[in-house]
Amino acid sequence: MAFDFTKFAKTIDGYKNDVIELQRILTSIPALAPENDGDGESNKAEALKEYLRGLKFPEPEHYDAPDARVSSKLRPNLVYRFAGEDNSRTVYIMSHLDVVPPGELSKWHSDPFELKVDDDKLTGRGVEDNQHGLVASVMAAKATLELGLKPKYNVGLMFVADEEVGSVYGINYLLKKHDFLKKDDLIIVPDSGDEQGKTIEIAEKSICWIKVETAGRQCHASRPDQGVNAFAAASKLAARVHALYNIFDAKDKLFNPSTSTFEPTKKEANVPNINTIPGDDVFYIDCRVLPKYKLDEVEAMIRKWADEIEVSENVKIKISYAQRAEAAPPTKEAAPVVQALMKGIKAVYKVQPEVCGIGGGTVAALFRRKGYPAAVWARISESAHQPNEFTHISNILGDAKVMAHVFMQG
Ligand SMILES: [Zn+2]
Repeated sequence: MAFDFTKFAKTIDGYKNDVIELQRILTSIPALAPENDGDGESNKAEALKEYLRGLKFPEPEHYDAPDARVSSKLRPNLVYRFAGEDNSRTVYIMSHLDVVPPGELSKWHSDPFELKVDDDKLTGRGVEDNQHGLVASVMAAKATLELGLKPKYNVGLMFVADEEVGSVYGINYLLKKHDFLKKDDLIIVPDSGDEQGKTIEIAEKSICWIKVETAGRQCHASRPDQGVNAFAAASKLAARVHALYNIFDAKDKLFNPSTSTFEPTKKEANVPNINTIPGDDVFYIDCRVLPKYKLDEVEAMIRKWADEIEVSENVKIKISYAQRAEAAPPTKEAAPVVQALMKGIKAVYKVQPEVCGIGGGTVAALFRRKGYPAAVWARISESAHQPNEFTHISNILGDAKVMAHVFMQG
């Protein structure tokens, strides 16, 4: 590399107090979605803007989504841009401003919305998800500015709303209404990873949650001849679900587990007493399907079995979806974003990076579905959404170095 990365890394090592300061500000402002009885992300976004003004960052572009449910009437989506030597593409780092509620307060050892610092460890709601990645991206850009360096390509830091409850007012809004991305851009989503920072997530399975409603006829348990047992009929379908493993049996080493999965899960309560034959039954199936299969194929098989059981058991079976998302095309391992991350990870953490696929439903899929190669990566302990959520300052600084390395790669 033409420039001195050691000096760059040293500069970032000096940002320990900056990390604490920014994490303290961000943690103190609960940014909860209206669905979680919150008032959105505007206050947190304003505090972040104020802080970044202090760092002499340029003013951001706003792509705010209107939302009448919050007092600012807007869900903020910000993009900070830094010009590179080569304007043909942009390296984007996307992190989200919103957090999930703290959950049961008795499970926390400290106030979730007050940053707790124990040496290298930071505790508080949001410190990992997603302030770890957010702060790392800020520190990488801060070092670039301070050292007067120009990144190889343009850099864009995206801070978006509404990731935790579906991204309708966040990245989905931005992609629908203001799609400024280009196919050659590199998109990094530092929102999931492992403790060594070596796995780069590039693919996900399709996901579908199937609701199965079976209608029979309720009667006294002593007179089955007068009713139709919906639970017994539904059980016949539930018992067949595992046969899907043999039908859709392909393996893909990218994923762990390497096969599709099909599991009957939630069972709704039916009758409260033992001596009544239930006339209605509701259960659910969680399916995670390798991208090589279409969800339609899986659903057609379940419907066929349901049809057979309707005839043999004299019930009606309704099938609907609590969630259904076809997998986006995977980001290729050879994609520049993956290769750039691998180089940075090797240089900073001295580990051999690996690509992986996961069980479904990351925000990166929204990019991939539109044909933009996105990679999810961070060196974190995966304490997101848990009580006493934590992260490590050293890992934020390390991830900032990896990001900075990516900025400077030519
Ligand atoms: Zn997150």
